[in-house]
Amino acid sequence: MTAQTAILAQIKAAHTIIIHRHQRPDPDAFGSQFGLAELIKTSFPEKKVHVVGKSVPSMAWMGQMEKIPNSLYDDALVIVTDTANSPRVDDRRFEYGKVLVKIDHHPNDEPYGDYTWVIENASSTSAMIFSFYQEFSNELKLSDKGAAFLYSGIVGDTGRFLYGTTSDTMNIVSELMKFNFDWVKINQQMDTISLPAAKASGFVYENMVTTQYGFNYIILTNEIVENFKLGDFGTAFIVPLLGKVNTVRAWAVFEQQEDGYFRVRLRSRQVIINEIAKRHGGGGHEFAAGARAKNIDEINDIINETDNLLKEQAEK
Ligand code: AMP
Repeated sequence: MTAQTAILAQIKAAHTIIIHRHQRPDPDAFGSQFGLAELIKTSFPEKKVHVVGKSVPSMAWMGQMEKIPNSLYDDALVIVTDTANSPRVDDRRFEYGKVLVKIDHHPNDEPYGDYTWVIENASSTSAMIFSFYQEFSNELKLSDKGAAFLYSGIVGDTGRFLYGTTSDTMNIVSELMKFNFDWVKINQQMDTISLPAAKASGFVYENMVTTQYGFNYIILTNEIVENFKLGDFGTAFIVPLLGKVNTVRAWAVFEQQEDGYFRVRLRSRQVIINEIAKRHGGGGHEFAAGARAKNIDEINDIINETDNLLKEQAEK
């Protein structure tokens, strides 16, 4: 029995299904969570399906999280989408259910759950949910709304088809576009920034550091971020900016958090950087990873480790 067949059997057997995703959600986390919820609700209207996790104002355009009592977990099937490691699951009650399923496209460093379905080279977890629907399309129904969620997740994780995009990705997108939803509006929504974010972009380009080996980075302290008054939009828009420069081979944003630590967002075109992220309390994909640095010394370590990798590769 494949993981997908086992997961469908679990969905059919459950009365209550609770879907979780990772902390600090992005469009693929929301897209796979809401997309799967829609798929199950449309296919099996008698089942109770809930989406949980922290509400995030910048993602409110995709939908709202629910507040549910602990008692619902007693007999529930819990499905976690798009989350490689159990400590990153948003809403710690994910372990309270009767059965736990992991569906993800990150390296499977921690295969938690009773059933694990991971495709590491899938463009997104949303694309996997669509393949799941296709595989069992004689039993499952996807609504236009569900298709819109999955499309948003794919667009988000591929950076509008810049990264990790294959013919499979485009085939899935082509199938999704046969549903009735406004993909132009979704694309525009995902390409929009607020005026304070536009001003902050100017600051980032003025102040980013570029190394000899093509590593672009910026360190954003709490003070800098507060000055820009970015509000609910957050700082996610900054990450792709550094990657647009034509000399760049790897890039990073170090953003201080309320506890003083720095959130590290690492990206690369050529060298594999998730091993560096793992050494600094994080993980992720080969070319898109995240970590945490406790202070400037640890930031400098990450900068040196990345730059050394770039140097080694340049000298090969
Ligand atoms: P981000 O830079 O936060 O957009 O994350 C890039 C990739 O790295 C995503 O696939 C995340 O799931 C992963 N990632 C980010 N932070 C962590 C972390 N602390 N631990 C494990 N994976 C992470």
